[in-house]
Amino acid sequence: MDCVFCEIAGGGVAADKIFEDEEMVVFPDKNPGAPVHLLFVSKKHGEEFHTVEPAKLEKMLGKVREKIVELGVPYRVALNGMGATQIQDHLHIHLLGKVSAEKPV
Ligand SMILES: [Zn+2]
Repeated sequence: MDCVFCEIAGGGVAADKIFEDEEMVVFPDKNPGAPVHLLFVSKKHGEEFHTVEPAKLEKMLGKVREKIVELGVPYRVALNGMGATQIQDHLHIHLLGKVSAEKPV
C-alpha cells in the first residue's frame, strides 16, 4: 500500500512522534503550513472525517483540544476528504498554531 500515514503508523517511516496510542499517532507535518503544524493521524487506513466512528473522532478531537490548550496560541484546525489532498482514505487532522488573521483560510 502506498500510504505514507500507514507507513508512519506502522513504524516503517520515521516520524518525530509526540504522542501515540492504540488508535492514533501525532507528529509534526514535514511541510509545515504554520509555525506549529501537527498531524493527528488515525492508525487505521480506510476512514475519513465523514465515515469514521463518532466516538473515535471525539477521541481524536479531544487530543487536538488538549494540544491547543497546551500551546495557548492562535490556531486553526483543518480536515480534508474525498480526494481534496494527495492523502486519501486516511483520517488525519491538521492543527496549525500561531496562525494569523492576516492569512485566513
Ligand atoms: Zn493509510
